[in-house]
Amino acid sequence: MVEKLDADITVIGAGLVGSLFANFAADAGFKVIIIDKANHKDLIKNSFDGRASAISFGNKRILEVNNLWGEINKYVQPILEIRVSEEGSNSYLHFDHKEIGSDPLGYMVENRYLRKVFFESIIKKKNVQLFDEHEITDFSTLNGRGKCFLNNSKVIDSDLIVAADGIKSKIREKSNIEFIEKDYRQTAIVTTVKHEKHHNGIAHERFRTPGPFAILPLRGNMSSLVWVESNITAEKLLKLESNKFNFELEKRFGDFLGSIVSVPPNWKYKLKLSHAKQYYQHRIVLIGDAAHATHPLAGQNFNASIQDITSLVYMLKKKSILGLDIGIVDTLRKYDKLRRPSNDRLIAMTTFLNSLFSTNNSIKKFSRRTGIALVQNSGFAKNFFMNYAGNKDINIPNFSDININS
Ligand SMILES: Cc1cc2nc3c(=O)[nH]c(=O)nc-3n(C[C@H](O)[C@H](O)[C@H](O)COP(=O)(O)OP(=O)(O)OC[C@H]3O[C@@H](n4cnc5c(N)ncnc54)[C@H](O)[C@@H]3O)c2cc1C
Repeated sequence: MVEKLDADITVIGAGLVGSLFANFAADAGFKVIIIDKANHKDLIKNSFDGRASAISFGNKRILEVNNLWGEINKYVQPILEIRVSEEGSNSYLHFDHKEIGSDPLGYMVENRYLRKVFFESIIKKKNVQLFDEHEITDFSTLNGRGKCFLNNSKVIDSDLIVAADGIKSKIREKSNIEFIEKDYRQTAIVTTVKHEKHHNGIAHERFRTPGPFAILPLRGNMSSLVWVESNITAEKLLKLESNKFNFELEKRFGDFLGSIVSVPPNWKYKLKLSHAKQYYQHRIVLIGDAAHATHPLAGQNFNASIQDITSLVYMLKKKSILGLDIGIVDTLRKYDKLRRPSNDRLIAMTTFLNSLFSTNNSIKKFSRRTGIALVQNSGFAKNFFMNYAGNKDINIPNFSDININS
């Protein structure tokens, strides 16, 4: 028998972005149903997502104002310095938190902890229902409201369907929303590295010809490594026995943190750029990797998504206070217009840096050697990498407090 459910908003996908959106939307007073095909206990397991995220200072403030940072703070490592260098060169770009005050540039936190905090918060809220192990099979937006058909005979009616279903978004595809796509032909090997010496809160972004190699500080004498190689090399490395894998790792990592060892398991992520040409359709809106996904070299895609959903929930709440329909294109178009320029810049910059450094082409080699000094002085790269510290001055909404005057 068909079970009929009703909500203001249905969120498809309970990854980092969908689950954070559900928290914000529920705080703003919306009745939310969030579904994911995975089991929510699996989603927070260490084995599900081995990545750690660099969270910008501005986004930390958003999470703080909305009562999520208190729990996350137990697991974070502040980023105090960022060093950007090229393999084989002794010079590097250096960004120190002291240049902008006493606050850190950002915070490293393992994704499993972010997911745990977001889920625990969702479960406590009375106006959110989480259906894990549920998959959307079809949807319709034709008859007044959005209708989502789930695999186990549930049908959800809502004013807005939020697609947070990742880079291969089925909702985006079925809505005929066009998107640009580029295969970087690179794989990011993600692993945790235990080292003898403390990292002193320094994040390293080292550009190598096959791809960037990022050493990102975690609590204690541990770092999260994002090691980018061509797809073929990455496959070979991941098949090595652990002593041989550690040997290859040491060759690239160096000995500046003393002896090192990788802590299994290792994960792999094939890297692709994808950007939807439109973030909306009637009663549909895209967020997270469903809207845009880019190269992880600056660790900013989730950060950009936090900015997206903050703007989106704020706009939806203002509409609903005025008694207006939250699913019509008028509101959703404004969200697109507001967030697209910044997301375009992020994608352009990450793609440019990846192609500038990941090549043996002698002209590019020359331009990056001279360019690295120039960008250090121009402040261009500085602004980009220090976006970890960005958005300090934005108006940060507390979603439970938005009213007609705010
Ligand atoms: C190596 C690497 C390092 C990164 N580091 C950083 C960083 O330091 N800082 C940063 O800001 N960003 C970083 N990013 C980017 C960031 O991790 C992603 O942008 C973010 O995780 C995307 O989350 P999401 O919720 O949009 O998508 P996903 O995590 O893909 O979640 C999508 C969810 O939808 C569910 N789903 C899919 N289809 C259906 C369906 N039909 N029905 C029901 N459920 C469905 C899936 O089960 C999944 O749980 C990194 C990315 C990579 C690859």
